[in-house]
Amino acid sequence: MIDLHCHILPGVDDGAKTIGDSLDMAKEAVSEGIHTIVATPHHQNGKYINEKHEILQHVSSLNERLVQENIPLTILPGQESRIYGEMVEDYRYGKILTLNHTSKYIFVEFPSSQVPRFTERLLYDIQAEGLTPIIVHPERNSRLIEDPDILYNLVNKGAMTQITASSLTGRFGKKIKKFSFDLIDSNLTHMIASDAHNISRRSFHMEEANELISAEYGMDMLYLFQENVEAIVNGKACFKDTPEKVKKKKLLWF
Ligand code: FE
Repeated sequence: MIDLHCHILPGVDDGAKTIGDSLDMAKEAVSEGIHTIVATPHHQNGKYINEKHEILQHVSSLNERLVQENIPLTILPGQESRIYGEMVEDYRYGKILTLNHTSKYIFVEFPSSQVPRFTERLLYDIQAEGLTPIIVHPERNSRLIEDPDILYNLVNKGAMTQITASSLTGRFGKKIKKFSFDLIDSNLTHMIASDAHNISRRSFHMEEANELISAEYGMDMLYLFQENVEAIVNGKACFKDTPEKVKKKKLLWF
């Protein structure tokens, strides 16, 4: 299995602090059946700056260390950029890194409680540049929970989305868990990933999330998500079902 979103690089953000932490995370990942991780450090989130060239260096040194330690895990380069106005310019300047450096897909993170006004325009510009934006963990954004039509509109216009495994398992609370399933029901998400930061409070939980998906939707949905992740890593096209609006909760009359 491939994990597309993970903060495993040491000392670059709020994920692994030391190389020891990275190796602990690597072992935990392998125990869950993960053989490949796309390392996606935070970028431009107000706290961390991690530009392309630095990430590439960190990824190659972690890979060397994994070989030395005989841990059967491969790290690929990626980046989790907070949405900001100059993303397309910075991509041209070589500061923004596409997932596995294939010039096809980029992660876009929203602030946790809002969707900036310029979002639709920026996602359009990103696509005009030949890239597909993947909105990370939309299920944890309080503005989107309040008004899922905003997400419907963005997906309808070509954005993809990634749900966090721990959201499905309920580690972020009932509301976020329910909204995660709503997004799957409405074809408003296309893959899951761990967004693991450590092996304690923010670990992988991919196996558990996969079991929930196959129990609720069958193996086909699980394979679809996994095939999309593989396609992204290989810079190929993904499968996208027609998005639907999240159905408003029906009123129950007693
Ligand atoms: Fe993340």
